[in-house]
Amino acid sequence: MIVMSNKAVELSLELLYKEGFALAGILHGNDCHFGDWLSSWLSKGYQADMHWMKHHKSIRENPSQIESYCKSIISAAISYHTPPPQNWAESNPISNYAWGDDYHLVVKKKLNRVIDKLREEYPKLEARAFVDTAPLPEKLLAMRCGLGWIGKNGMLINRRYGSYLFLGEIITNLDLPSRIETAKDYCGSCRKCIEACPTKAIVADGIIDSNRCISYLTIEKRGDFTDSEQKLLKHQVFGCDICQQVCPWNKKAVAGQSESFRCADKWQNLKIDDFANLTREQFNKLKIKSPLKRAKYEGIVRNAKAIVSKGKSK
Ligand code: SF4
Ligand code: SF4
Repeated sequence: MIVMSNKAVELSLELLYKEGFALAGILHGNDCHFGDWLSSWLSKGYQADMHWMKHHKSIRENPSQIESYCKSIISAAISYHTPPPQNWAESNPISNYAWGDDYHLVVKKKLNRVIDKLREEYPKLEARAFVDTAPLPEKLLAMRCGLGWIGKNGMLINRRYGSYLFLGEIITNLDLPSRIETAKDYCGSCRKCIEACPTKAIVADGIIDSNRCISYLTIEKRGDFTDSEQKLLKHQVFGCDICQQVCPWNKKAVAGQSESFRCADKWQNLKIDDFANLTREQFNKLKIKSPLKRAKYEGIVRNAKAIVSKGKSK
């Protein structure tokens, strides 16, 4: 363990901001207890086929347990808010988060550079970067660090940057003091996301039933759609942004600065029919550096064909 001063806190945050993170905060391991926040959601089956959500309960409840050396967790957020391509303004087939390079790679690289710089200062540093690939309660960590609140659409929202934010964490043996700021909930009486969700997947404030969520169906769902699942699809081939697009906090959000998340040229002219008729070779080119690979070739073509066939049967 390395016992730290405020200087180490300032250095950690400064390095993150230099890498382009808009927001960052620190939580000491002693403040990482979140209790049993998932059992009720799981007991209702809202995880659909995402069975991995049932595992690693103790880490989800206390993320400092993820590494034996963990003394504190740094939570950071980077904006991917970027204007849509003109031809997608009305009907965006690909979720905003997938327009640019795969954030898992981009954000992790940034966090690893911060770790390398910290190690120059603290040679005994032990640290590991995480981006959406471990059972860390990322949104809860970010909220407790004061980065924002979890809105009725289930997303972390910041008043300045909205909800188009990628989250990442550094688990470290640096013994950093928490910077806990109570993140006020600024949803107020607004219900725009709940009302706009086309499938009624937001079943209570901040609670999403994945079985009904287009994002889950088009990205995580494996195998054929049931008839009732197919009926839920709209125009999206990968993901869904509707409950974020309608959020007032995103209408006035500051745009992200990272070039990596700008919309790649390869998407500019693709329409639903093009996705339905993709060859495996074309998909293999499209998926390079793209989060689209998560849905696999079979998933993307399945999604597009299901949307096309719905259109024809109207
Ligand atoms: S992502 Fe789409 S389907 Fe899922 S809750 Fe939001 S609006 Fe509803
Ligand atoms: S649309 Fe309204 S209720 Fe939904 S997350 Fe945004 S502010 Fe909260």
